[in-house]
Amino acid sequence: MNFVALTIFPEMFQPFWGHGIVRRAIEQGVISASAVNIREFAAGRHQVTDDSPYGGGNGMVMKPEPLAAAIRWAAEAVPGARTVYLSPQGRVFNQEIAAELSIQPGLILICGRYEGIDERICQQFVDDEISIGDYVLTGGELPAMVLMEAVTRLIPGALGGEESALKDSFSDSLLEHGHYTRPANFEGEPVPDVLLSGNHAQIEKWRLESSLIRTVLKRKDLLMQRQLTLAEVRILQQWRLDIDHILQSQSISGAGPLPGRQ
Ligand code: SAM
Repeated sequence: MNFVALTIFPEMFQPFWGHGIVRRAIEQGVISASAVNIREFAAGRHQVTDDSPYGGGNGMVMKPEPLAAAIRWAAEAVPGARTVYLSPQGRVFNQEIAAELSIQPGLILICGRYEGIDERICQQFVDDEISIGDYVLTGGELPAMVLMEAVTRLIPGALGGEESALKDSFSDSLLEHGHYTRPANFEGEPVPDVLLSGNHAQIEKWRLESSLIRTVLKRKDLLMQRQLTLAEVRILQQWRLDIDHILQSQSISGAGPLPGRQ
């Protein structure tokens, strides 16, 4: 995967590329990444990249000519790359889109500033508009970094353990199970016994239950999209029985008769 970020602030990317998984992926040749200054493609002594909007109004708009030249240059440098404009108006980024992008040969990431980029660039050059959420930031650089990190994690070889990205939250519409590390007892809170048992089948079962309960409690919407396995259906059915059992044993004054209760 070859990332090319087009930006007027290329220096913002250096610290990002110098740390963690992204740094390791670059060092190991799993990805390559560069930030190209759009200003270098702007004409004139002052290399201006923005201008006032037609029709009046506040703010500035990124001029089309330098952007077009920068995109053409990047497209030649990375054949087959998809051109993505980071924009609050785009489709909202998620793990599924990250997976879709991770199999591209390259991504040209246009980082907007001011009021955004000239509309004709969107129409003529942009393959995809992606938002990182329903809020507005000052520039596309942070969204580009968010996208790069999420995509890089999914590229084989980027993470230490090949399997870890597959188990992350949102893979397969499940949140990941809880994690514990030493000490075994932290301020009176012990680690669940099963995790200390060395019984891998039981640990896997606990992890699946932990994933399911978290998803039910925090993100029911995800479970609705998931094709449940037989093991998951059984766990959910058991919970239903347990909850029914608790309800049956209660006398709830004012609640009236509970459904199914004689
Ligand atoms: N006037 C634009 C609008 O209302 O749609 C917002 C422009 S914003 C101030 C400047 C740039 O920041 C955008 O061109 C885009 O590149 C980036 N940006 C801001 N919020 C974003 C978001 N939620 N996701 C992706 N990019 C964003």
